[in-house]
Amino acid sequence: MSRPTILLNPGPVTLSERVRQALLREDQCHREPDFARFMLGIKQAIAGVYPEARDRFDAITITGSGTCAVEAMLSTFAPHDGLTLVVTNGVYGERMAAMLQAQGKPLEQIRAEWLQPMDLAALERRLEKGGITHVAAVHNETTTGRLNDIDTLIRLCERHGAGVLLDAVSSFGAEAIDFRQRSLLAVAATANKCLHGVPGIAFVLAERSLFRNGRSHANTLYLDLYRYEREQRSGFSPFTPAVHACFALHEALLELEEAGGWQARRRRYRHLSTTIRDRLAAMGIQRLLDEEDYSSMISSFLLPEGYSYPRLHDRLREAGFVIYAGQGDLSRTIFRIANMGDIRDEDVDRLLAAFERLLRA
Ligand SMILES: *Cc1c(COP(=O)(O)O)cnc(C)c1O
Repeated sequence: MSRPTILLNPGPVTLSERVRQALLREDQCHREPDFARFMLGIKQAIAGVYPEARDRFDAITITGSGTCAVEAMLSTFAPHDGLTLVVTNGVYGERMAAMLQAQGKPLEQIRAEWLQPMDLAALERRLEKGGITHVAAVHNETTTGRLNDIDTLIRLCERHGAGVLLDAVSSFGAEAIDFRQRSLLAVAATANKCLHGVPGIAFVLAERSLFRNGRSHANTLYLDLYRYEREQRSGFSPFTPAVHACFALHEALLELEEAGGWQARRRRYRHLSTTIRDRLAAMGIQRLLDEEDYSSMISSFLLPEGYSYPRLHDRLREAGFVIYAGQGDLSRTIFRIANMGDIRDEDVDRLLAAFERLLRA
């Protein structure tokens, strides 16, 4: 059997046959009680990916991409009458700052260069000065593939009484997130990265007590998670959910659980990503970061001698693989390879053989 074109971009992913078949389920009206029951099951399953999250967090689903979930999280929880500090070292952290700017909310930034870790020393100094109510950060900065040291960031916030709003769009389901930390208030993610669903449904895991005791800071209607939370208690949604994307996510969550949960997925990703990095290194292709800085789901490399990104991309596309460009200033110097989705060992072997062929040519 021939394999489909393998997606090595950071989402959407190559689907398993089982998840693809779920898209073909009978059409359903989202206002029917059986669909509401189905959605309650999905919310439970999302919160159950990290079982320790269940005690304190509710999953709120929203129709849109990962950016939609991140923006809904910031819109709902970042206050007008507080101060949110955004800690950035890449595209997605900077995007969070741009969202707060667009929302007209008070913010400060602690910016690091994209090849650097988050500047946690500067974060600590700023927290000590006082006045910071919330800290927003990215777990896995997909720009480079760096897994940020979120545990230290959360501990610093714990000590200084700031609440953490986390973009875990490219880590949820495959990296450790310590939901027991009280300062962690909300985590945004999506169906179509490490969970292996299709694009269209995203979600925010938010501390339940925020909805009981707090108030919304949203200045938009669609992104106000308080509105979703009220209706979703009974499984209904204020606006039309991406029904078929929900079918796929349900199946993908079952598949994740049956395969051993997020820890097993991380082991699988690590096997794939270290194989790719080791074998490309042996061919003389240089990693962008140090080996220990990488998350499990994506790797970044300097373009090989004599290859522009479009040329490399097109050759690999002919061989049946979609790789991914760098962003911003990195677009001319790097390429990226993600390893989420239904990727098999033999796919990686074929990919590496394709690299070998084109480097010899
Ligand atoms: C992919 C990604 C996003 C945005 O997701 P979209 O689905 O493209 O909107 C946000 N943050 C991180 C860290 C990501 O990797």
